[in-house]
Amino acid sequence: TLQGKTALVTGSTSGIGLGIARSLAAAGANIVFNGFGDLKEIDALQTSVAQEFGVQTAYHNADMSKAGEIEALMKFAAEKFGAVDILVNNAGIQHVANVEDFPVEKWDAIIAINLTSAFHTTRLALPAMKAKNWGRIINVASVHGLVGSAQKSAYVAAKHGIVGLTKVTALENAQSGVTANAICPGWVLTPLVQKQVDARAAAGNLSNDEAKRQLLQEKQPSGEFVTPEQLGSLAVYLCSEAASQMRGMSLNVDGGWVAQ
Ligand code: NAD
Repeated sequence: TLQGKTALVTGSTSGIGLGIARSLAAAGANIVFNGFGDLKEIDALQTSVAQEFGVQTAYHNADMSKAGEIEALMKFAAEKFGAVDILVNNAGIQHVANVEDFPVEKWDAIIAINLTSAFHTTRLALPAMKAKNWGRIINVASVHGLVGSAQKSAYVAAKHGIVGLTKVTALENAQSGVTANAICPGWVLTPLVQKQVDARAAAGNLSNDEAKRQLLQEKQPSGEFVTPEQLGSLAVYLCSEAASQMRGMSLNVDGGWVAQ
């Protein structure tokens, strides 16, 4: 059980981050939510998770592309709950274009949100984790941390980068109770992926279902989406004593994507 522990999940107002936050709350952890969205909905989300699982929740709206706001987020979490015991670096965005057409500001935003933010949260969370000699850093990378796909230069570069950051963080803390690992999902049907389904449907004049089927068929041998709940369960496992010698790993949950 994670009772008495505090988990910060970046980008947890939607999709995978929300799934991981719910699973960690179900295991007893207090949750610091972060991410964008309607403040009333986020408030309701916080309350419902707190009531459903009998944990404490808090929310901070830091923009993960801004170092100063990340510092404020980490300070807020520490003031609210003492310290962050479980850090889940999940916030991320996507943009699809060939390298020569890739908007420079999109490149910068993807590197900042999908990679640099994890450096900042990690460096700010580590001192307290080391002091307690217990901590879990879980980086939500992607199959794109392990292999490439056309038109995703910034995303693939950032995700390969976060796999590297995970290894170094694990090594620097290998003789402590602080572990760092990466989860590498294949396709998960979240708003981030629905945009790519919509683009495919529009380009090929396809139905939503046919666009989803083609998207999966191209890369994911199972032909099924991975779910946020499945990733949440893995995150809970990584927080367990059984996983205390898993260090610097990249764990793909990808319907067979990377086995090909
Ligand atoms: P999503 O769009 O549903 O959720 C993204 C979350 O990040 C939201 O809460 C959003 O508000 C937040 N966010 C975005 N920009 C932010 C910023 N600047 N500051 C703070 N929060 C910000 O997407 P998702 O699919 O759940 O993606 C979550 C993570 O999982 C990302 O890192 C993504 O790369 C990764 N991932 C997704 C898939 C997939 O198939 N959906 C596969 C592999 C990896």
